[in-house]
Amino acid sequence: MSELQTIKELREKVALSCRMIGNRGVTRGSFGHVSARIPGTDKILIKAKGPDEEALEFAAERDIILIDIQGNTLEAPPGLEAPQETDMHLAVFRARPEVMSVIHSHPDWVVALTACEKPLLPIYAAYNPPGMRLVLEGIPIYPRSVTVVNEELGKDFMRYMGDKKVCFLRGHGMTTAGQSVEEATSISLNAFELARLNYMAYSIGNPKPVPEEDLREYQSRWQKGTRRGDRQESSTGEPSDWRYNKKLLEKAGL
Ligand SMILES: [Zn+2]
Repeated sequence: MSELQTIKELREKVALSCRMIGNRGVTRGSFGHVSARIPGTDKILIKAKGPDEEALEFAAERDIILIDIQGNTLEAPPGLEAPQETDMHLAVFRARPEVMSVIHSHPDWVVALTACEKPLLPIYAAYNPPGMRLVLEGIPIYPRSVTVVNEELGKDFMRYMGDKKVCFLRGHGMTTAGQSVEEATSISLNAFELARLNYMAYSIGNPKPVPEEDLREYQSRWQKGTRRGDRQESSTGEPSDWRYNKKLLEKAGL
């Protein structure tokens, strides 16, 4: 496949991911961005901001601009530019060569939980095992609430995010990293649901983690890697949650 074709397909995926997380309420308005590394290059596609910016749920291919890993804009239509927090995306891409997509969003549940210093607990297992797995793997919290707008802050942020799939930012939102746009989108949606359910449980009383025995059972299933629900290639080559969210977009006319 030519680089142009790769860029075209990846640009469509990044725009789709923006619409998915906007449509599901993971972020609001134009706050947040999805980015993807073009395989084998130091080029990155990222959802743009600027006077002509769109909210994430309405993002189209025009909104996804091309930059390099130094942060220089390579291609962008008039009225659009790299977002202020591009440095956060670049910090993740530079530190972790395996990461192919980064998503930054502003989920309301995360802002409320981090403001009250309520730790995320594995309050469910069977309800959504991939979400429970995120909390077991650890979700660090970046303690500052400033936008990450330069290399120094990007490095500071990475001291907390490290090699994790998701990092919360106190009074701000969350950042996720995956080996594909589909994976980073899935992690964002699962972390959002985890925060939403933790918030609900804390609002009723004192949530308790599910029994240790159940967590161990899931850990043993993951080690075997043979259970239903483990990510498997579908006949279309698309993960089922990605196809589901595409259908939700169609249903919503997005
Ligand atoms: Zn932000």
